[in-house]
Amino acid sequence: MTDRLTCLFMASVLVVEDDPVIRTALIEVLTGHGYAVRTTHQGFEALREITSSPPDIVVLDLGLPDLDGLDVLRMIRGISRVPVLVATARDDESEIIRLLNAGADDYLVKPFSGGQLAARLAAVLRRSVPAGAAPARRPVLHVADLRIDPTARTAHLAGRELSLTRREFDLLAYLAAHADQVITRRRILTEVWQQPYVEDQTVDVHLSALRRKMGEKPRKPRYLRTVRGLGIKLVSSP
Ligand code: CA
Repeated sequence: MTDRLTCLFMASVLVVEDDPVIRTALIEVLTGHGYAVRTTHQGFEALREITSSPPDIVVLDLGLPDLDGLDVLRMIRGISRVPVLVATARDDESEIIRLLNAGADDYLVKPFSGGQLAARLAAVLRRSVPAGAAPARRPVLHVADLRIDPTARTAHLAGRELSLTRREFDLLAYLAAHADQVITRRRILTEVWQQPYVEDQTVDVHLSALRRKMGEKPRKPRYLRTVRGLGIKLVSSP
């Protein structure tokens, strides 16, 4: 149940990177942030992948063995509107302008941190919904007595509607989509708040309000468990 729910929310990333060390690091970071990751180390193969089974987003290294990364970017734009985040070793202005003109949605200058990559990806994905497009109806989540409708933005606990703020709702929906997984405060700030630079304690403030509204006992919460030193877990069998 949990796995299926998680999969429905998982964005797929195609990583195009020829350096095996960097590739392994990227797989680790992105998998850790809940992305389904595919990789290729060549430009031609990337184009084939994008055509045959389009990912939600592409992370493209510019220095590839078979093709110039900028050419790969232009070729991607010839066949697809998939968001592309470029990883470049150069940060001079002319290079950035060239990348953006060639159709990059954003760029990262090497070396970059995993946290920065995850935050940029989330931001690009957020922007990539075409203007005017109706938002896709997202599946209703059922976790034990909880029913969360991400499209209607309503949450019910044992049939009673919870009156939640925007943040509280986002927090609950995220934890429910990742039920039984320990989620760090940092991850919540990066992926739910999309503000990786605010204090971890911000999460606790919203968490305690959420617990109160759900009628959780402070010492023995049913659903929203704190895993000391690690993070928060919403349990599916309270
Ligand atoms: Ca390279």
